[in-house]
Amino acid sequence: MQLPEHSSKAQLLPRIKVQKSLRFENSSLARERRHKNPNRVTMETLAQKRTRVARIIEKLASVYPDARLELEFSNPLELLIALILAAQARDTLVNSVTRELFARYRTAQDWASQPQEKLERELSQINFYRKKAQAIREVCQALVERFQGEVPNSLEALLTLPGVGRKTANILLGNAFGQPTIGVDTHVARLSQRLGLTRETDPDKIEQDLLQLVPEADRVRFCHLLQFHGRRVCLAKKPRCPDCVIESLCPYPHKTRPGPRGT
Ligand code: SF4
Repeated sequence: MQLPEHSSKAQLLPRIKVQKSLRFENSSLARERRHKNPNRVTMETLAQKRTRVARIIEKLASVYPDARLELEFSNPLELLIALILAAQARDTLVNSVTRELFARYRTAQDWASQPQEKLERELSQINFYRKKAQAIREVCQALVERFQGEVPNSLEALLTLPGVGRKTANILLGNAFGQPTIGVDTHVARLSQRLGLTRETDPDKIEQDLLQLVPEADRVRFCHLLQFHGRRVCLAKKPRCPDCVIESLCPYPHKTRPGPRGT
C-alpha cells in the first residue's frame, strides 16, 4: 500500500480496521449472522436507531394520518377521568359512558360530591366500576383540596394525586397540555420492544429509552401511531407481520409469515 505523505502505518491502522469491519458488516455472512441474532439491533448506534425511528414514524403516519387518542375529552379533568375509566376497558365503551356524565358533571367538585353508590351505578357498564368510582372521587377530592379544582400541568404535581402514575400523567400532559411526553401504555411498551427500541420491561425505563430516540415534536404522535398499529396489525398474541408497513424496519425475531393462500 502506498502510504500518504506524513502518514505512518500505525496511524493508518484504525482506518484499515474500520474499512475491514465495514466490509464485514456488508458481507453476506454478517447479514446472515444478523438475521439469526435476535438482538442484532443492539449493534445499532444511537444515531442509526434515531434514523430508524424517524422512518417508522413516517411510514406509520402514512397509514394512520388521523392517529390520535381514542378517548373523548374536552378538558384535562375529563381526560383524567376517562383515563381512570379506560384501564383494562375499551375506549369506545368508556366514551359511550362518559358522553352523558361529562355533560352532567363539569367540575372536580361535581365528581367528588357524588355518593359512592350513585357513581357506581352510573359506571356499572365498565369493569372494576366500584374501584374506579372510588378512584375518581378520591382524585377529584384531592384536586379540590390542593389544586383549586384544576388538574395541574406538571409531572411532579400530577404524581402526588392518588392513583395517578407516570403513564396517566404523561398521557395527560401530552394530550391535554401539549407537552412533549411519552406515555408508555401496553401498546407502546409491546411495540417498542418488538421494534428493538428498548430491551426494558419496566414502563418507566422504556420511557427513558424512547425519550432518547423520539424527537420532542413527534413524541405524542409517536405514541398514537404505536397504539393504532398495535390495535390493528402488531397484535399482542399474533402480529400480522405480512401486512405490516414497517416490517422491513422491525427486527422482531418471531415475525409471523403469510399463511397458505394468503390466510
Ligand atoms: S413486523 Fe410484525 S412484529 Fe414487527 S412491527 Fe410489524 S407486525 Fe409488529
